[in-house]
Amino acid sequence: MDTQVAARISTEDGLPFYLPQGNEVALFEHAHRHRLPMLIKGPTGCGKTRFVQYMAARLGRPVYTVACHDDLTAADLVGRHLIGDAGTYWCDGPLTRAVREGAICYLDEVVEARKDTTVVLHPLTDDRRILPIERTGETLQAPPGFMLVVSYNPGYQNLLKGMKPSTRQRFVAASFDFPAPEQEQAVIQGETGIDSRRAGLLVRLAGALRALKDHDLEEAASTRLLVYAATLMQGGFDVREACRAALVEPLSDDEDTITALMEVVDASL
Ligand code: ADP
Repeated sequence: MDTQVAARISTEDGLPFYLPQGNEVALFEHAHRHRLPMLIKGPTGCGKTRFVQYMAARLGRPVYTVACHDDLTAADLVGRHLIGDAGTYWCDGPLTRAVREGAICYLDEVVEARKDTTVVLHPLTDDRRILPIERTGETLQAPPGFMLVVSYNPGYQNLLKGMKPSTRQRFVAASFDFPAPEQEQAVIQGETGIDSRRAGLLVRLAGALRALKDHDLEEAASTRLLVYAATLMQGGFDVREACRAALVEPLSDDEDTITALMEVVDASL
């Protein structure tokens, strides 16, 4: 396996690479020990998914990740009857599997899911910790290892999609943001093996692009995109073109905005 890929997947201790931003590791460990569900808020590409993968590995639990979307129903989480050669059979959804196995279930962008999902999440997120499966008549008691983790990006929220306070109040919550410059540089270097000079340049460029965020763009240049840019550079791509492909084109379709962003890139090089 090539060493850059290896660095991305695991560190020396065998855990996924994750650089903590604050006290989130301790918070997650406490929440898991005390059987509390956790809510993570933050912009896309700031490390939420990586954090959950890291914590799952650290705690030795499997993790089931579900990218929620507006057609995702309770049945997608819990399971459904399928038709096979031998007739119908029950197939667990990822939430049910996680409960049975005492795993971590991570619902990414949970506010996107259909509202009927709250019916299955509520009894799992209070002290009952049960999952009633209406269609099979079973009621599963979540074992101690099970933990529900959900995330959403408050920036995307609208009145219809916001999380109801009655749901939100069932979780311990943490806010994530893009890492501070020094940390972000360490993340880019840790992920790609790029030298500190070019990693530093990317972080400064991100700062300049993020300062434009509220004016022209719906989304800020994320840590994920900086990692992509560094990966292209490490592969021998020209710096300017790497920035265009990873930091400019993904953020806008508007020609004028793209030109303005490239001016920011050129000023930073
Ligand atoms: P999110 O789930 O918030 O959209 P991800 O967890 O997928 O974002 O993070 C995107 C990428 O950014 C990761 O694949 C990783 O390369 C990098 N990353 C961001 N923050 C960190 C961090 N604190 N430690 C290690 N890698 C990070």
